[in-house]
Amino acid sequence: TAAAPARGVVPDDLGALSPRGGRSAVALSVVVPCYNEEAVIDALLARLEPVCEAAAPGSYEIVLVNDGSHDGTWAAIGAHAARSPHIVGIDLSRNHGHQLALTAGLSLCRGNHVLVIDADLQDPPELLPEMLALAGQGYDVVYGQRIDREGETWFKKSSASLFYRLLERLIDIPIPRDTGDFRLMSRAVVDAFNRMPERHRFVRGMVSWLGFRQVALPYVREARFAGETHYPLARMVGLAVDAVTGFSIKPLRMASIFGAVCGTIGLGLVVWALWAWLEGRTVSGWTSMIAVTLVLGSAQLMILGVFGEYLGRMYIETKNRPAWIVREITGRPPHD
Ligand code: UDP
Ligand code: MG
Repeated sequence: TAAAPARGVVPDDLGALSPRGGRSAVALSVVVPCYNEEAVIDALLARLEPVCEAAAPGSYEIVLVNDGSHDGTWAAIGAHAARSPHIVGIDLSRNHGHQLALTAGLSLCRGNHVLVIDADLQDPPELLPEMLALAGQGYDVVYGQRIDREGETWFKKSSASLFYRLLERLIDIPIPRDTGDFRLMSRAVVDAFNRMPERHRFVRGMVSWLGFRQVALPYVREARFAGETHYPLARMVGLAVDAVTGFSIKPLRMASIFGAVCGTIGLGLVVWALWAWLEGRTVSGWTSMIAVTLVLGSAQLMILGVFGEYLGRMYIETKNRPAWIVREITGRPPHD
C-alpha cells in the first residue's frame, strides 16, 4: 500500500480515512480542486456524475477539495456530499493554492484510476470514456492537450504559449506543450506521485517526470462556465518560476554565462580605455562610466535574484513543514 499522504496533515480522527491504508478502493476517483467555485459546483456535478456513473457504475468517488474558499463553496460541497455517497469533500485549513489542493486530493483519493479536472468545466468531463479506453490499452497517463482555447483572452493564450515554449528550453525532461492538469492517471502513477515530497509543486511537470506510458488526448478547452480565473498574471508568473526552478538548474548556469559575457564586454572596454589613454586622447568618460556601472549593477542583481530563488526554495524545503493541512473531510463512510 501507499505511504502516508504526501507531506500533508490529516487530523487523527480522519487519518483512518486516508487512502488505501488497507481500505477498499474504488474503480475511479475524480479529484477537483475548488477555490471560490460556488457558482459552478452544481453545474459541474450535473455533468460529471452521469459520466462517472456510466464509466464506473457504483464504484467511483468525486473528491472535491475546497481550497480555503471565501464563498459558499464548502456549503455547496457539503450539500452534495450529504446527497450522494459518491461525493467526498475535503476542506483544507486555508487557501494552499491550486497545486497543493490537487496534491491533497491525490493523496487522499482511493481510485484505481484517478481523473484530475478543474471545477470550472473548462475541461469537458465527457472525455472520460475516451481516456479510460486509452488507459485500457495500457497507458498509465492520459493527458488532455488543448488544441484550442475558447473564451480566453489573447494575452492568456499568448502568455501560456510563450511559457510552454520557454519551459521546453529550460527543462531537461520533456513536458508536453499546452497541457494543463486535466489528466487520467493509474494508481501506480498516483502512488509514485504521492512519494514526491516537494512543497513547490508543478504537478503536470512532476507527472511527466515520473515517466510510465503517457499519451496525449487532444481537446478544445472551453470557456469558464462561471466566475473568474484565479490565475492573474502574478500567479501565472509564480507557477512559471516554480516550474523552472523545480525542474532545472539551468538558470544558475545561465547566470554564470551571463556574468562571463558581461565580464568579456567589460574587459573589452578596459582595453579600449587603456588604448585611448596611451594615445593621449581624453576619454569623455562620464556617459560610458554610468552606462557600464548600471549594466553591471543590474546584471549582478539579476544573478543574485536567481540565486535567491533557489536558496529561498531550499530554505523552505528544509523547514520540512507539512505542505497542506486538512480541516475536515465530509461524505466518506467511516468504515469504507
Ligand atoms: N484553484 C484552487 N486554488 C487556488 C486557485 C485555483 O483550488 O488557489 C482551482 C480552481 O477552483 C479551478 C482550478 O484550480 O478548479 C483552476 O483554476 P482557474 O480556473 O482559476 O485557472 P485557469 O483555468 O484560469 O488557468
Ligand atoms: Mg479555469
